[in-house]
Amino acid sequence: MARTMHAGVVEQFGKPLALREWDISSPGAGQILVKTEACGVCHTDLHAAHGDWPVKPTLPFIPGHEAIGLVAAVGSGVTIVKEGDRVGVPWLYSACGHCEYCLTGWETVCAQAQFGGYTANGGFAEYVLADPDYVAHVPAGLAAADAAPLICAGITTYKGIKQTAARPGEWIAISGIGGLGHLAIQYAKAMGLSVCAIDIDDGKLAHAKFLGADLMINAKTGDPAAAVKKATGGGAHGVLITAPSLNAFKQGVGMTRKRGTCVLVGLPPGEFPVPLFDVVANCITIRGSFVGTRQDMAEALAFAAEGKVKADIELQPLSSINQIFDRLEHGDVASRVVLDFAPTKTTKTQPSEVDQRFATTGAGSARDL
Ligand code: NAD
Ligand code: ZN
Ligand code: ZN
Repeated sequence: MARTMHAGVVEQFGKPLALREWDISSPGAGQILVKTEACGVCHTDLHAAHGDWPVKPTLPFIPGHEAIGLVAAVGSGVTIVKEGDRVGVPWLYSACGHCEYCLTGWETVCAQAQFGGYTANGGFAEYVLADPDYVAHVPAGLAAADAAPLICAGITTYKGIKQTAARPGEWIAISGIGGLGHLAIQYAKAMGLSVCAIDIDDGKLAHAKFLGADLMINAKTGDPAAAVKKATGGGAHGVLITAPSLNAFKQGVGMTRKRGTCVLVGLPPGEFPVPLFDVVANCITIRGSFVGTRQDMAEALAFAAEGKVKADIELQPLSSINQIFDRLEHGDVASRVVLDFAPTKTTKTQPSEVDQRFATTGAGSARDL
């Protein structure tokens, strides 16, 4: 096995990723090494690379928490997966397994939790180390690139919808129809909910309609909270805010029905004002939701395996990561970009696009794109 791999590395917050060589680690006891086939690019990766949040990753690091690949090597004591299994290396990279949260199905808030592509190196690389107890098990028949967005965008919205407690036949408003939101619409429809899609981009809203949304609202034109209240006869029973915009949070609380639940999932840096009187007098619940547990993961993947949910993906090589980040920042990604690590299919002897690029820059050199 090669001792180094190609990786996209954050060396400084707010600067382009460096495409460079990185040592491939051998899996230690209880670890596995996964050969990446595909890795989705989540807006969280952008927050990570910008150092947006109060707890920052240690530099340098490799982002990426929607990595799907084949187990290439297992460390001693690993029995849950074997070489050749297709797994996903998600945001919830590992947890302690013993604290009150781990024991009660809230492992996502374990104080010892590690996060893929944040506190542990992630999938913007040809290989990624993983904890076999926390990897996603990709159902047979689901291609790596199709599975990639499900292990963050999919699980997060599936869990978030459950956290709204909206029941079949009721309204859910989904704010932000990007990587997360386009999957949220599909999960919500599969769960029997009526869906109101909200975005600031008409193209995203047209796509929402195509995916089955019942109502589309452009938050840039008029007051989206008033529009949702009017169209749903009092507000949505559940609201899921995926938009990385503080404005969307304020609006989301305003479109929640009396006794409804507004679930916060998007993570723009900052704070937003809560209209206390309205929240109290209307008995509204505002609730944060953070990815999902391993059980949520299995359920979220099962929807896709049964054909009820399908990520819309655009394949790109790792070498395009900085252009992809730029597009994501400006709302120019239709749904989800997935980095494709598969070798080019033209001839077996031809090096992959990434290999060709590195052949011209020289192995071991680091450079900005
Ligand atoms: P994305 O860039 O693919 O999609 C964001 C969408 O929001 C775009 O369609 C954009 O047009 C829309 N938008 C922007 N401003 C808006 C506004 N004011 N009103 C309505 N829509 C608006 O991003 P993504 O990958 O879907 O991630 C979204 C957010 O969710 C990020 O902040 C990310 O960090 C966060 N996230 C949270 C979790 C979690 O566990 N809580 C998991 C994954 C991602
Ligand atoms: Zn994510
Ligand atoms: Zn724990």
